[in-house]
Amino acid sequence: MIFDIITLFPSIINSYCSSSITLRGIDKGIIKVNAHNLRDYSTDKHRKVDDTPYGGGGGMVLSCQPVFDCFESIKKEDDYEFIMLSPQGERYNQKTAVELSKKKQLILLCGHYEGFDERIRIGLSPREISIGDYVLTGGELGALVILDSVSRNIEGFLGFDKCAHCDSFSLGLNGLLEYPQYTKPREFRGLSVPQVLLSGNHKEIEQYREQESIKRTKKRRPDLLYD
Ligand code: SAM
Repeated sequence: MIFDIITLFPSIINSYCSSSITLRGIDKGIIKVNAHNLRDYSTDKHRKVDDTPYGGGGGMVLSCQPVFDCFESIKKEDDYEFIMLSPQGERYNQKTAVELSKKKQLILLCGHYEGFDERIRIGLSPREISIGDYVLTGGELGALVILDSVSRNIEGFLGFDKCAHCDSFSLGLNGLLEYPQYTKPREFRGLSVPQVLLSGNHKEIEQYREQESIKRTKKRRPDLLYD
């Protein structure tokens, strides 16, 4: 999977991609991340990428020219999705992460300042995605949220011992929240590990986890039970 990220701050993207599981995924060739600096595509002699809004009001609006030129310069795979990070977009969730993980290429457009000249939406028809009902300063965190959550669903990314389908919201848990997990020691400050997890009885452990998953979801996210 190729991630092409259009941004004014490639260093944010590159810094995130230089450690942990994401770096391993890049080293293994499972994902490739290209951060494109929007300024490099500006035809303005001062590499300007924005201007004041017509009609007045504060802030700066990202101009069409660098965004169109940058998007058009990116080599497209036959199965790509072009995504604009925007608080006005469809709300992102695990279902979308799984759906996007089937693509060969994601082109992610990060905004900044007041956002985009509307003609970018009209002319390039991106799919708009929001990572939640709040406003961020820029789209980079959103792009990284997508990069991370999508990558986890690509085969081989997490390694053999961990499957993304066993986490909260995933198919393996029928879309519910994960059950409580414990590790050593058996006792910590008077708190002990539930006996069933020490029993070695796999059937009982499975039943316990299923019940706990339902219980936890009912309490914290009842909406997921009726989705
Ligand atoms: N003026 C815009 C509005 O009211 O819809 C908000 C612009 S915001 C300050 C700057 C950029 O941050 C956006 O263009 C977008 O790329 C990104 N951004 C902000 N909130 C976001 C969210 N919830 N999800 C995804 N991207 C977001």
